[in-house]
Amino acid sequence: MPDAVPDAPLAPLTTLGLGGPARQLLEVTDEAELVAVIRDADAAGEPVLLLGGGSNVVIADAGFDGTVVRIATRGVDTRREGDRVLLDVAAGEPWDALVAHAVGERLAGIECLAGIPGLAGATPIQNVGAYGQEVAQTITSVRVLDREDGEVGDLPAAACGFRYRHSAFKGHDRYVVLGVTYALVPDAALAQPIAYAELARTLGVQAGERAPLAETREAVLGLRRGKGMVLDPADPDTRSAGSFFTNPILDADAFAALTARVHERLGAEVRPPGFPEADGRTKTSAAWLIDRAGFGPGTRRGQVAQSGKHALALVNLGGAQTADLVGFAREIADGVQEAFGVALVPEPVFVGHRWDSA
Ligand SMILES: Cc1cc2nc3c(=O)[nH]c(=O)nc-3n(C[C@H](O)[C@H](O)[C@H](O)COP(=O)(O)OP(=O)(O)OC[C@H]3O[C@@H](n4cnc5c(N)ncnc54)[C@H](O)[C@@H]3O)c2cc1C
Repeated sequence: MPDAVPDAPLAPLTTLGLGGPARQLLEVTDEAELVAVIRDADAAGEPVLLLGGGSNVVIADAGFDGTVVRIATRGVDTRREGDRVLLDVAAGEPWDALVAHAVGERLAGIECLAGIPGLAGATPIQNVGAYGQEVAQTITSVRVLDREDGEVGDLPAAACGFRYRHSAFKGHDRYVVLGVTYALVPDAALAQPIAYAELARTLGVQAGERAPLAETREAVLGLRRGKGMVLDPADPDTRSAGSFFTNPILDADAFAALTARVHERLGAEVRPPGFPEADGRTKTSAAWLIDRAGFGPGTRRGQVAQSGKHALALVNLGGAQTADLVGFAREIADGVQEAFGVALVPEPVFVGHRWDSA
């Protein structure tokens, strides 16, 4: 069993650099050990927080009164199955390095997800996505420990409830993700068709066309760096949890109401951004709403601020408390609600506190 570190600071284990201590911290490098640690904790009624790269959590200033299990299992197995290649990836594998590896091996399907921090095991949790790709497009199954019966098994993708920045895993602690299987296209000189207009423009192709695989990854990294979305100790704009709010998805009535509010407030010629969803609803842009509600990039409150490069990322300028960050997030959400009647929903997972009672 790994050694437990008592009263362990959690802030350094998060990309925001925020949050109080854990009663104890365990780092687990072996899958069988991970399973045993969770089963023992569950049998003892001990609260458990699973932590990967800490890039999508907002931990309370009071910390976590229980055991934090930091997942550090490693391993990537590659199998050919018909016309695709399956990668069986341990939960603790760093995601961005996996994308680089896949592209280096001429495997297509996750190249637009380059530069996203954190570990592979967390990618199914919120169906990680960017620049027109999301892991739901390539995940075939997720190996899990089911904490309800203590058994290890494979969940097929169809049972994972994937949707925009959400899955059956998010907001529940029933499953520990032990490994993820991704199906990729082998011998790929070209990326999958480019679905994101800004990326297509950067690559000099039309949306829906293909571009060289390695060039696509580089273009994504370049765009992300320009928005402070690639972790970089030299760039204080990256001391965030990525996008703090998800993009609202509105039904026809709600989108019409938003459009009316936008006309009223910003002029009849202004239209809110709208991207059709498969279910007939419309996704709008949280960053646009935040900006138009009067919170532009770089807006600061004490030691927290919006990133200077991206209205949607909130950053710890150093020495902040979680309460400061959440207070500013609440001010922004209230401002958007008041200006446009749209309720913003935070993207990161709150630990030890709740957004709806913040
Ligand atoms: C600069 C920056 C840019 C980002 N850009 C994007 C982006 O473009 N797209 C995007 O989707 N996200 C983005 N994110 C958010 C984040 O990187 C992803 O959500 C990532 O998948 C989180 O991985 P992690 O290992 O850090 O998870 P953590 O933050 O450690 O954990 C997140 C949640 O998952 C749970 N969890 C972690 N591992 C497991 C496991 N093995 N089993 C069960 N539960 C687990 C945790 O308990 C927690 O609830 C960004 C974040 C930052 C800081």
